[in-house]
Amino acid sequence: MAEMTMKHATIYISVDMEGVAGVVSWEHTGKEGGHEFDRARKLMTGEVNAAIEGAFAGAGDGVELTVIVNDAHGGMRNLLLEELDPRAMLISGGPKRLGMMEGINASVSAAILVGYHSMASSRGVLAHSYYPGLVQLEYAGTPIGELALSAYSAGYFGVPVIAVTGDDEVAKEATGLIPGVETITVKWTAGRLAATCLSPARSRERIASGVKRAVMGHLLSPKVAPLVPGRPSSFRLRFANASMADAAALLPGSVREDPLTVSYVHEDYLEALRGARVMMAIAASIPGDPY
Ligand SMILES: [Zn+2]
Repeated sequence: MAEMTMKHATIYISVDMEGVAGVVSWEHTGKEGGHEFDRARKLMTGEVNAAIEGAFAGAGDGVELTVIVNDAHGGMRNLLLEELDPRAMLISGGPKRLGMMEGINASVSAAILVGYHSMASSRGVLAHSYYPGLVQLEYAGTPIGELALSAYSAGYFGVPVIAVTGDDEVAKEATGLIPGVETITVKWTAGRLAATCLSPARSRERIASGVKRAVMGHLLSPKVAPLVPGRPSSFRLRFANASMADAAALLPGSVREDPLTVSYVHEDYLEALRGARVMMAIAASIPGDPY
């Protein structure tokens, strides 16, 4: 009898913070929040560990599994490495060339987005698209958020996003964008700064079982298609005020469409996305103009 060769698979997990159960305030998402931020980092790490557990359970004993976790929130140094499931590896810190999707490549079997939130100007807990000064971010003429940015980054390498965790609003966004994706809801929107949350224990159970189902299904017979970006790729950024747009429009190749709106087009999606990220970074770095 021929010896069975061990199948190998890689699961990639991008982790944001605003979609974690218990996170309902900007105090939870940045170090200015002090004790509240420390609590949220633990909650975030707990949800990631649940996703890692689900991935290994879904792959089963017959698969040699690699799990790569990318910290995708803010300064990207939020996850507590000392508490991470030792079977996974963590990409921590930034700036990183692929940002929220650093580490994704064509050898990855599937991607999972944990702790994600809905897009700017939508309902949903702490909804925003990358930079809070953006009122709307459009890709190819359609309003999108970070969920879509990450799904297109994975799709660029032919990798599908098979599971998304967060609030009920990002779950709807995911279902509309990625047919067949497993959505795992851990909190329900009561307002931009309020939610009905599952306990950490319950949210982790849900994440572990949802990710297990998604990974098992995908490795048996893939059903979710990668979200492949088109060529060329165009981004349109609508800012909260004109001084942010003044700053963003300094990027060579950008087009000022109106007082609040700047666009950027490139043949290649990842280059176009880098252009959009640079515009947000310049807009965020100018001296305050809150009006
Ligand atoms: Zn985010």
